[in-house]
Amino acid sequence: MPIWNAGEECLDLEERAQLQLERLQSTLNRAYKNVPFYRNLLQEKGIEPARIETLTDLQYIPFATREHFSDNYPYGLFAVPLRDVVRIHTAQGTALKPTVSGYTKQDLLVWRELVARSLFAAGVSKNDILQIDVDPGLINWGQAYKDGAEAVESSVIPLTILTPEKQLMLLRDYKTSVLITSHSAATQMMHLVFRSNLNPNELALRTVVLVGEPPDAGIQDRLKHELHVKTWVHYGLSEVPGPALAFECEARQGLHVSEDHFLPEVVDPTTGGVVPEGVAGELVLTTLTTRAFPLVRFRTGDRVRLLPGACPCGRSLSRIEWLSSRTDEMKVIRGVKVHHQQIAYLLERTLGFLPNSYRFLIRSEELRDFLEVWLKVDEAIFSDEVKGMERLCLRLGKELTQELGVPVKIRLKEESSFQSLQLSHRIEDLRAKPFEP
Ligand SMILES: [Zn+2]
Repeated sequence: MPIWNAGEECLDLEERAQLQLERLQSTLNRAYKNVPFYRNLLQEKGIEPARIETLTDLQYIPFATREHFSDNYPYGLFAVPLRDVVRIHTAQGTALKPTVSGYTKQDLLVWRELVARSLFAAGVSKNDILQIDVDPGLINWGQAYKDGAEAVESSVIPLTILTPEKQLMLLRDYKTSVLITSHSAATQMMHLVFRSNLNPNELALRTVVLVGEPPDAGIQDRLKHELHVKTWVHYGLSEVPGPALAFECEARQGLHVSEDHFLPEVVDPTTGGVVPEGVAGELVLTTLTTRAFPLVRFRTGDRVRLLPGACPCGRSLSRIEWLSSRTDEMKVIRGVKVHHQQIAYLLERTLGFLPNSYRFLIRSEELRDFLEVWLKVDEAIFSDEVKGMERLCLRLGKELTQELGVPVKIRLKEESSFQSLQLSHRIEDLRAKPFEP
């Protein structure tokens, strides 16, 4: 029986806590036995998995971070032998090495069902034609949505990397009724609809599922009023990687966390202490059913607050409000997370050296967000030939776009563009907010 009918979304609180505790203990035992990283982490604190007797005992276990993923590249955090892994995914991390996650057959089945139930909550069914349009940096999610949408028997147009104009052509000609996309890509699509003089009533689109970025009420209002669609926000992590870890129901009062498969905690990002319900902090997640790549107290960097009270929809899964700022230095461009260290590493790798002065900016042109990299023209980069410099920019831009999965433009700038700046080498966000609510 599919999960969305199995009642795990509506367990009473005591039953759910019991289920979570059993699954947590099993996860900790497997992680302790099979993953040296977690074993060392627990041993350093003198904790044996058997000592975790309640859900709140979890807070004695140290956090896992993206840096730990990098340190254990590629397979160091797998809890099953490679022969049991049937799919391997890669996500860009904060540091030099990407995050590699694996799935057993069972993991894939669970993910398919989780995505299916989140789509089901958005009213997606076998009567829908579903189109997936996300940036290359979210390609793994495209696969997960394809699997989940097939499970609810929608007709799926899988993720293909196309220009926005071609995506719109598919949307119109194939009579797409459900679009999975990011806020940024949806904004761009809306812009294109009007620029192409298309009457939104001629489109079959009725549902837009927004992924990868926190809710933006301004964009959602515009989509609702101008394209006449309902919007639904899904929260996910590239690292698990799963796109529908939390989802909106018809009550639109926060996002339900799939708590039967993930244990959420909200912590103070500075002290690491668990904060009370209703207080904003960093979301920390522990997987409860994942076999190949379990995460124990993973710091997501996403800012949320747990919402008190019951949801009118009848699901007892806790709800989070997903807030727009992050607790770390990652930035989100078109739903894809990017870190300044990672860009600097790619620059160095492509050029063979790290330039003396550079800036990373997020900008927007015609509602299309992209990363702009400024490099100072100096002896190392300077070429007498204009064509030589153009070639360098093109090569760098292509390489970074491919690696990061978001559009990147390179600009060579004179020294004056860097003067009087306290160069922190962090990413500067210069996007204008396109629509105020
Ligand atoms: Zn609900």
